[in-house]
Amino acid sequence: MKARAFAYARPSSLAEAHAAFAAAEGDASYISGGQSLVPALAMRLQAPQVIIDLAGIAEMRGVALAEGTLRIGALTRHAEALTHPLIRAHAPLLAKAAPFVAHPAIRNRGTIGGSVALADPASEFPAMMLAMGAEMEISSPEGSRRVAAEDYFQDLYQTAIGPGEILMAMHMPAAGTAHVAAFDEMARRRGDYAMVGGGILAERNGAAIASIRIALFSVGPTPVRARGAEAALSGRVLDAQSIADAQNALDGDIDPLDDAEIPAAMRRHLARVLLGRLLRQLEIAP
Ligand SMILES: Cc1cc2nc3c(=O)[nH]c(=O)nc-3n(C[C@H](O)[C@H](O)[C@H](O)COP(=O)(O)OP(=O)(O)OC[C@H]3O[C@@H](n4cnc5c(N)ncnc54)[C@H](O)[C@@H]3O)c2cc1C
Repeated sequence: MKARAFAYARPSSLAEAHAAFAAAEGDASYISGGQSLVPALAMRLQAPQVIIDLAGIAEMRGVALAEGTLRIGALTRHAEALTHPLIRAHAPLLAKAAPFVAHPAIRNRGTIGGSVALADPASEFPAMMLAMGAEMEISSPEGSRRVAAEDYFQDLYQTAIGPGEILMAMHMPAAGTAHVAAFDEMARRRGDYAMVGGGILAERNGAAIASIRIALFSVGPTPVRARGAEAALSGRVLDAQSIADAQNALDGDIDPLDDAEIPAAMRRHLARVLLGRLLRQLEIAP
């Protein structure tokens, strides 16, 4: 199958991109890395009249650190999460998650913003935004606004991005030397979408956990923050008892659906095992 014929626009500013969307009367799709959109076009799951390529918009590029906050432009590619020194130092969860996202060819083209805009419930980067306490910067013709990850992921493939709006960048508190991070997932084959996955960003106070954020994916229609498990660990030293308490609390944090491939009970069990692995990965002195 081939994509339906479409017109192509390559704006060089956000204002031009919004004007192109308005001119198409909404029958348009933005494209970043094209790694999800192009297959959808080829299968005619989407057939817009106009494709608006965001690649020429300078404000959507680059990674910068200012006043304790890291700004990652939406056009930053998956592969850059592995190599960019600011991401490796201050957003270690993205660097740890990147090798699990698809395959090298896709990571060379796919963008972090494209993944966060699409919000596939089985994707790694959207859940890491939740674990990092990120804010998404969204542009509309009226200006830009920031939305916290907790409010951004709304339902299956539904985010706070409205029709015609553009995800410009992700902002997150820069992790420092007091932070420890862990990422893992369970997939049938390396590079496949995960059956269950998750990431943890914690701040340590000596051997104890001062604060902790745990986000899981592939356990529901949106990434899920495991608040019960977080509460079970806060202020405690990581040991067999605190890990077991967190695993027990996790049961109340997630409500996986049954699907054709994986029954809910199995996903629940895998999430519990995964949480134990993640916590044992954290570099906190016993
Ligand atoms: C074989 C295969 C395996 C894959 N495996 C994984 C995997 O394991 N994990 C994973 O997370 N992903 C996986 N992907 C998806 C891949 O990571 C995509 O690159 C990513 O999800 C989308 O990023 P993109 O830049 O390619 O977005 P595009 O394909 O360009 O766009 C995706 C959607 O988001 C919209 N969009 C894009 N950018 C913006 C923006 N800045 N503002 C508003 N809307 C925007 C587009 O209109 C489109 O609807 C896989 C893809 C393939 C083909």
